[in-house]
Amino acid sequence: MSIFRFKALETVLTRTIPEVKRPSSKISDYFGANVFDKYKMQEYLPKDTYKTLLNSIESGTPIDREIAEHVSSAMKAWAMSKGVTHYTHWFQPLTGTTAEKHDSFFEPDSDGRAIEKFAGSALVQQEPDASSFPNGGIRSTFEARGYTAWDPSSPAFIFNKTLCIPTVFVSYTGEALDYKAPLLKAIAAVDKAATEVCQYFDKSVEKVTASLGIEQEYFLVDLALFNARPDLAITGRALFGHASAKGQQLEDHYFGSIPERVYAYMQDFETEALLLGIPLKTRHNEVAPSQFECAPIYEEINLAIDHNQLLMDLMDKVAKRHNFKVLLHEKPYAGINGSGKHNNWSLITNTGKNLLSPGKTPKNNLMFLTFFVNTIKAVHEHADLLRASIASVSNDHRLVANEAPPAIISIFLGAQLNDVLDEIESSRAIFKKVKEDPNLWFGIPKIPQILLDNTDRNRTSPFAFTGNKFELRAVGSSANSANPMTVLNTIVADQLTKFKIEVDKLIKKGDKKDVAILTVIKKYIKESKDIRFEGNGYSDEWAEEAAKRGLSNIKTTPKALDALVSEKSEKLFEEIGVFSKRESHARHEILLEDYFKKLQIEARVIGDLVTNVVIPAAIKYQSQVVENIKGLKEIGYSADFYQAQTYIIEEISTHLNFIKKNVQDMVEARKVAIKIEDAREKAIAYDETVKSFFEPIRYHVDKLELLVDDNIWPLPKFRELLFAK
Ligand code: ADP
Ligand code: MG
Repeated sequence: MSIFRFKALETVLTRTIPEVKRPSSKISDYFGANVFDKYKMQEYLPKDTYKTLLNSIESGTPIDREIAEHVSSAMKAWAMSKGVTHYTHWFQPLTGTTAEKHDSFFEPDSDGRAIEKFAGSALVQQEPDASSFPNGGIRSTFEARGYTAWDPSSPAFIFNKTLCIPTVFVSYTGEALDYKAPLLKAIAAVDKAATEVCQYFDKSVEKVTASLGIEQEYFLVDLALFNARPDLAITGRALFGHASAKGQQLEDHYFGSIPERVYAYMQDFETEALLLGIPLKTRHNEVAPSQFECAPIYEEINLAIDHNQLLMDLMDKVAKRHNFKVLLHEKPYAGINGSGKHNNWSLITNTGKNLLSPGKTPKNNLMFLTFFVNTIKAVHEHADLLRASIASVSNDHRLVANEAPPAIISIFLGAQLNDVLDEIESSRAIFKKVKEDPNLWFGIPKIPQILLDNTDRNRTSPFAFTGNKFELRAVGSSANSANPMTVLNTIVADQLTKFKIEVDKLIKKGDKKDVAILTVIKKYIKESKDIRFEGNGYSDEWAEEAAKRGLSNIKTTPKALDALVSEKSEKLFEEIGVFSKRESHARHEILLEDYFKKLQIEARVIGDLVTNVVIPAAIKYQSQVVENIKGLKEIGYSADFYQAQTYIIEEISTHLNFIKKNVQDMVEARKVAIKIEDAREKAIAYDETVKSFFEPIRYHVDKLELLVDDNIWPLPKFRELLFAK
């Protein structure tokens, strides 16, 4: 019998590097070639239509039928010129991946001849057969169907020879069934609230855009090895596997030179991404072996998220050409770093000013401080909600381990800005202009313009200020960023609205505008102080300190998700108009279901692999040792002579007995958990009674891996998954 593992290893040795073709050596020659962007619109649309469309997109006003008709024809003409025959509404259901259903342009005309048609109505709206997408009870009745509606703010693009139209996915009654619909609402809310606050400082501001730059971490593994690991293939992570002798301890991978095979892969998916208008700019090795990162230049949030979703698809697709599998799971390998998706967020005005960038003048600094402090305050008020927004079964592995942002939400500001806030907080000069010192204004010290100090980084913080943006580092690598970004923009919108009310009140009472603003800022600094933390977020001392401060430290998803449906959050979402109560509860239900279903699958895979793969391999080796002892005995050796063999036999049996018993108990626990009706209780039961078997079982399986003859062990080992090239 040949073992798949060795076949896979042999295959890796025969790999060649496919040639990567780029349309041109200059990126600017082909960037966005597969996107129906402004330039193509201009080329394919009548002038007036183009102007009206652009206006609608920028102001967010609805697009009328006639315009839609023009746009659909133009899109069709452009797509057909590129050999495209089909179109699809591209959307982001709550499964976490993207969905599409392709229709061809082809239609018979009234004479029965074939024509190519793409009507305005087909562009604007479709009714996908959506009954199998998660909806949390919203579409429980058959007549309540779902439909997809065109999102003109994200341009159509060609992917897999299909014209893809970004859409929102909502129920017939208007409830959101996807990630995009609530995100668009949150973005609109933060735009409105921030624009109003900007009026204190700059009347020319008409719009504020939330911007996002997403750093994407991932692992690569050879496709043959991946296929020889059913756990990786089915759950995205290795459920067993003893640590490799060499892991990341030498710290030699981060920013190291990129292996040739990986480099070709990167170039290949980057080229495709650039064709799709995804502005990929950065690539490098990450901390763990076989771990890498890529990052685009930041864009408007909705677009940045569409691009990230598309990028994940693209990375997966292109990987196959290179005989790689890309692992986007948050923690494919225990014992080495997991992967995240850092969300770099800022607010930028239509006049081009980044509101989170400290300015040159005191007035600009007051504007900066306003948005800076309001963001801190928003996170302080709704830390639990932000924690909920990043919760998933796979991200739990990162958040509780000492190698990624911890489950406690805190904010890192860096020494300089901390000092600034401390000074404002303690300053008594707030109502007195300090004329003597030009570096002080209302008692605010001058803020140095250049804060982009790379040494002043805290990699243990889940939410860090990095010079001119906040970086939410706790988002998982496989997540759709829409979830945390919907929350972040909602809480900031809410906070800015409250800020304006407070400031206006003081102004009405006779305070000067700047004094009123500073007074409220000072109050917020005091109120939100507990969320600020500059130290090591992984340390035990921080966990203790955070508990004293009353910050939550929720380690698992089922409980973290409570914040999504707390009275406070329900009220917030309803007030800002992002989720109705029904929508919040539906989402809560979907996330809980996702949690226990994934644990259920992991438990099954563990059961299967242990029973059919691990135990037989161990028994086979044990039998060989038994034969060996028998032989030694036969030729007259005494027991002391085969002590080692006896020991091996006993060790194997100890592990086998433990594994067998625990797998049985786990199956029993699953049978109990599956019967629980309430989704939250069920998820908690899966966490506490089923998942709790995973680690102990794994421990013993990994010990067997160390004991059993390498020639018999069926599963590719960590050293092979991580280092085979
Ligand atoms: P790092 O050192 O953390 O890798 P980078 O400067 O490379 O930081 O930025 C990472 C991401 O942040 C990139 O996607 C970049 O475009 C984005 N970014 C930079 N400035 C901003 C900003 N003002 N708002 C949002 N994202 C930004
Ligand atoms: Mg970063």
